[in-house]
Amino acid sequence: MSKRDYYEVLGVDKSASPDEIKRAYRKLARQYHPDVNKDDPSAEEKFKEVKDAYETLSDQNKRARYDQFGHEDPMQGMGGGGFGGQGGFQDFGGFGDIFDMFFGGGGGARRGPQRGADLEYELAVDFEEAAFGIEEEIEIPRTETCSTCGGDGAKPGTKVETCSVCHGTGEQQTTVNTPFGRMVNRKVCSACRGSGKHISVPCPDCHGAGRRRVRRTVKVKVPAGVDTGTTLRIPGAGEASPNGGQPGDLHIVIRVRPHDLFERDGTNVYVDYPLSFVQAALGDEVEVPTLDGPVKLRIPEGTQTGTSFRLRGKGIVRLGSTQRGDQHVRVHVMTPTHLNDRQRELLRELGHELGENTNEQARSLLDRMKSAFSGH
Ligand SMILES: [Zn+2]
Ligand SMILES: [Zn+2]
Repeated sequence: MSKRDYYEVLGVDKSASPDEIKRAYRKLARQYHPDVNKDDPSAEEKFKEVKDAYETLSDQNKRARYDQFGHEDPMQGMGGGGFGGQGGFQDFGGFGDIFDMFFGGGGGARRGPQRGADLEYELAVDFEEAAFGIEEEIEIPRTETCSTCGGDGAKPGTKVETCSVCHGTGEQQTTVNTPFGRMVNRKVCSACRGSGKHISVPCPDCHGAGRRRVRRTVKVKVPAGVDTGTTLRIPGAGEASPNGGQPGDLHIVIRVRPHDLFERDGTNVYVDYPLSFVQAALGDEVEVPTLDGPVKLRIPEGTQTGTSFRLRGKGIVRLGSTQRGDQHVRVHVMTPTHLNDRQRELLRELGHELGENTNEQARSLLDRMKSAFSGH
């Protein structure tokens, strides 16, 4: 027994929305449920058929594959019981589909609605906006279903007719005899370009295409913690389907603009802070910029250049949580320049007072260098 078309089983149109499919399924499942049809042995068979149909048509991916390949999905054949089983090579139409798929012949006609294309948009945000999140309005050019004709391409008030060349199937078949046997070659109908319809008076706004290019403003909620390369997906905000299917998605790829002061690595923020040589030697309390505003940081006496201080929880929130990273403050001791005579004199005096070098670590390092040279 050959399998019935799933759309036929559920009694819905090929362009039925997910809601319509669900409604049809619920109604039929109630009608054929084995518990309420104990006297009718065929009900169980029907119930199973309805369930199978719904399992495929309620899943966006499965439905798209079914629309393309019907019951003879070549990939399904390979993954499962192999080609020998149900739907395999017995049917030349099926073989034609497989042949088309692997050898690129003809470009196989598509039955039923196709999903619209996904769109990608790069959104540049400031460092702070990435850290705390922001709502942005972006304008994207995209193809939408024409609102004038509702997508059928015909001028409102005029009728859409069935294509007389393909009789509404959207495809033309030719049969050729080859050394491998009889091949059915399917092509998209050249008269209607696969729509199966003929429009006598085209819609004035979309010229019969059923779709229009528009610039659409889309609100984007950028969550706190995004980084360069983070992709936000807005389902259904992509291109309209060419034939009444679901629209594609909009992918927003984030790019974070560099900041004057802050650098970022994941959830941690790094900032370089200059210290005068006097501050480093004597210690000080300084104000350091953070994402939350200035914060006081105590610099201990005798701080070396390159020392890093950690401000806990002053970093960036982990995307999707409330946990924040840290801010690391790297200090750089600045050597004084453009000294006047008095300052030079004071430094010389200080140098004399300190001896050649009072820093023990530095002295032992210098000693080791000296002995390394004398060793040769
Ligand atoms: Zn239109
Ligand atoms: Zn046609």
